[in-house]
Amino acid sequence: MPGSRIVSDVVCPFCGCLCDDLVIHMKDGVIAQNEQGCAISKSKFLNHLKDRIESPQIRTGESLTDVDLETAISHSVDLLSKAKRPLVYGLSSVENDAHREAYKISEILGAVVDNTSSVCHGPTILGTQVSGEAAGSLSEVKNRADLVIYWGSNPQFAHPRHTSRFIRTPGEFIKDYRKDRRIWVFDIRKSITANIADKFIKIEPGRDLEVLSSLRAVVRGHEIDVSDVAGIPIQKIKELADTMKKAKYGILFFGLGLTQSHGRHHNVDAAIRLVQDLNSYTKWNMMSMRGHYNVAGANKTLTWTTGYPFAVDFSRGYPRYQPGEYTAVDLLARGEVDVLLNIGADPAAHFPKDAVEYMRKIPVINIDPKRNLTSLLAEVNIPSAIAGIECDGAAVRMDGLPLYLKKMIAPPEGVLPDRDILKMIFNGLLEVLP
Ligand code: SF4
Repeated sequence: MPGSRIVSDVVCPFCGCLCDDLVIHMKDGVIAQNEQGCAISKSKFLNHLKDRIESPQIRTGESLTDVDLETAISHSVDLLSKAKRPLVYGLSSVENDAHREAYKISEILGAVVDNTSSVCHGPTILGTQVSGEAAGSLSEVKNRADLVIYWGSNPQFAHPRHTSRFIRTPGEFIKDYRKDRRIWVFDIRKSITANIADKFIKIEPGRDLEVLSSLRAVVRGHEIDVSDVAGIPIQKIKELADTMKKAKYGILFFGLGLTQSHGRHHNVDAAIRLVQDLNSYTKWNMMSMRGHYNVAGANKTLTWTTGYPFAVDFSRGYPRYQPGEYTAVDLLARGEVDVLLNIGADPAAHFPKDAVEYMRKIPVINIDPKRNLTSLLAEVNIPSAIAGIECDGAAVRMDGLPLYLKKMIAPPEGVLPDRDILKMIFNGLLEVLP
């Protein structure tokens, strides 16, 4: 589109913060400037045309051959319709309408559908299912929180504007954030977030559960008969618990350092119970630091549709939920699926070796805007538009707030949004399935 224009209130589709205050400058039909965005956001917006899958591709022997979209769709339909146990995976970096089409495909095929939360905040969901959830919004945190804890998360690196937008900024009841709001970091090493915190509490690796349980015990008035827990002197644990009880509004943000370390969902369960105990004295809230921009959306849309947030199996004609059984890594590592439809994720880069080795033995249909490790081993690659830049859609922020992603610019010629590609596959399956 020729000419220049400035679009404000643009939502950034690159991490779970979904910052909704970007100002994007367009010049001569290209994105020229991203105001407000962090380094990740600027790089993603300004380089959205780099490393693209330039054409639909089908594997012939060792190499990938460019084909037209209809041929790639028809080959995908053929592979999926002949599969006995297909797996649909990804969905955390695509918008909500694409989820709907993926679930329709999963249901009609009797497939397993899983999203990337099974390798990040799956334990958070399991902990929540056991112990409930003390939920609140990021705005509430900004306006009220006087004690902020980051536990096993490093937002200065992974969510660069989380702290500056919601914590190190004034709020309705926090006039001077330097004086009225304290930041604590619990981690196994001094991260860059710990460097900006008021207090850093170092935990011995794999012992978060003990620290959380000790804090709970102290909050509930019990004595602990040891001199230290996970490297933290017991006197310090008492002081921490006392300050937590005296906070007017506390928030516990937690990341993969808690969910994917020793204890996993038991860690989250203990954190939830600590927050519940603290709510007997004051107001506390907790929130998972979601990484992919719409992984929270993938959990929500799958729950709206099937009743379950991830690891859902349609093979009996109705949804069944079993993490560990129907989670993508486990299915691939055990060699139980015969086709993978991968949408907006890069499992070849992130899954364990045995799962990736099995991916090399089965056809992988890969829908993604960019080249990545999964696209290198795929049987079919179908390029898609980037939601929030090249097509619109909806996504869900880490606190559960749905936000609208704007279309800034047309996608490369012939490239469609994920939802339209998935619709074509679904319609193709309707024609061939009995
Ligand atoms: S913090 Fe996340 S959502 Fe906000 S601008 Fe950076 S990448 Fe985008």
